[in-house]
Amino acid sequence: MQNDFPLTLQHVQRRMRSCSPDAQVVTLMAPGELRRASFAELGARIDRLARALQRLGVQAGDRVATFAWNNQRHFELYFAVPCIGAVLHTLNIRLFEEQLTYIVNHAEDKLIFIDDSLVPLLEGLAPRFEHVAHFVVMGDGDAGSLPNPLRYEQLLEEAGPGNFDYPAVHERQAAALCYTSGTTGNPKGVLYSHRSTAMHSTVVMGPDANLLSSRDRILAVVPMFHVNAWGLPFAAAMAGADLILPNRYLQSEPLAQLIVSERPTMMAGVPTIYSDLLRYADEHRPDLSSLVNCICGGSAAPVKLLRDFQERHGVVINHAWGMTETSPICTLARPPVQMDEEEYWRLRATQGRAVAWVELRLIGDDGHEVPWDGESTGEIEVRGPWVASRYYNDPSGDEKFHDGWLRTGDIGSLDRGGYLRITDRAKDVIKSGGEWISSVELENEVMSHPDVVEAAVIAKPDERWAERPLCCLVLREGAQTSVEDLREHLRERVAKWWLPDEFAFVEEIPKTSVGKFDKKVLRAQLADGTLEGRVAVEARGRPAPAPG
Ligand code: ADP
Repeated sequence: MQNDFPLTLQHVQRRMRSCSPDAQVVTLMAPGELRRASFAELGARIDRLARALQRLGVQAGDRVATFAWNNQRHFELYFAVPCIGAVLHTLNIRLFEEQLTYIVNHAEDKLIFIDDSLVPLLEGLAPRFEHVAHFVVMGDGDAGSLPNPLRYEQLLEEAGPGNFDYPAVHERQAAALCYTSGTTGNPKGVLYSHRSTAMHSTVVMGPDANLLSSRDRILAVVPMFHVNAWGLPFAAAMAGADLILPNRYLQSEPLAQLIVSERPTMMAGVPTIYSDLLRYADEHRPDLSSLVNCICGGSAAPVKLLRDFQERHGVVINHAWGMTETSPICTLARPPVQMDEEEYWRLRATQGRAVAWVELRLIGDDGHEVPWDGESTGEIEVRGPWVASRYYNDPSGDEKFHDGWLRTGDIGSLDRGGYLRITDRAKDVIKSGGEWISSVELENEVMSHPDVVEAAVIAKPDERWAERPLCCLVLREGAQTSVEDLREHLRERVAKWWLPDEFAFVEEIPKTSVGKFDKKVLRAQLADGTLEGRVAVEARGRPAPAPG
């Protein structure tokens, strides 16, 4: 029998310091201004921070919150907090005030570490936080009216140098906490244990997943305030890869400049980040070709986006799927290159195969398992060592967890090689005349039209068919594309009865706090008539009005 060696982030920290002391975290402080710190330097600062946390009275199991962008100090907190046995609670800076207040109180956060640029967002709410003893401001900016503010750099200074003696941590102890963005009801907390985080980091580094090593430089655009930036800070530390953090500069121009100057090999982000970057790159032609191994997830990535990036800019983007409840990585599409081109791109468009230790199944309407034939669809259920077994102190979501499986609320199919294709979220499905229409697939096809920037398809109640798809879309500036053009484009790509009768030309598709299409808002706009003036109908006797 082997040692029962604990799988904890303490090991990840030790490994980062001893095996890759010269790897770096690079933070974009302002456009053109970078701050670099080696893993060795960061280790010394993490020790100081750990001491400072103890001096502030943080005990094992206490929740320590962050309200911060992707930057070096956030990275230091990612290690210091769990390694002293406390719980790193990343707050999503884009949530509504009520949700934030609910989350901070529900988690009973004791301290909040906040970037100075974000102080105005929390100042007004601070009096409503019931358990927060101190705010620790990161940066030299104003602490505003925050009660009991402390200064991060001053705490580190006062904590003094020298190695910190980390307390023993059990692998099943909680390391981190993240709340779902709560599209219905209150947000729900998901606890990640040391073990689940360590295993997730190990597996997502590997082949058929992110394929990370000490030769990589990772540009993490995906926020560190949502699902641990898909585990990348931990995976970077483990692999000894450099981590490049863009702070609050998430627009295409500073991102492109960062890519040109730092030459990352990998980038991680949601599709909207990539589609903005592609538009910028097509116009300005920055050299993005260092990016040979990117990852895109959070919502369905249109295959045209992946293909255009690869063919026009040499950037390879792999499609992945997961959720807050699953740490998040469950599947990733990295098909073998030695295959027929059409088949290769068909697989690249899928959400990919389950990574090691993750198991999937599909459950049909009748409660039985659906075969893996690439056609039949069902609700995706998932289990594995980094899949949550319940929500944190909240039994109201218990029905999502049953006999070791999580009901994801996503609908899809699996083929005989295990490639997952998500067709919809359960709450977004469209049933027209008794048949399902995949909104995700329809959106993909609409977005493959060269004049379409974004498209989201929702169900519109219909007397005859029960529901019909309504396609809301944003056209490229200056484009004069008509409804008939769009239908012509779709006609050869989807079944005839899938063709939307109506298209709503909008300036922007509403987005959630993590940048996904917010169909809930579109549905509300449809119900309250806001979308009405935007809708153009197929030219069956009625001419389509000009877009916009
Ligand atoms: P929220 O539920 O608040 O949006 P998550 O970040 O946990 O927060 O979102 C998980 C959901 O995002 C999944 O259940 C799925 O519906 C969607 N999703 C994530 N990745 C993909 C993907 N590659 N393709 C399609 N949908 C995706």
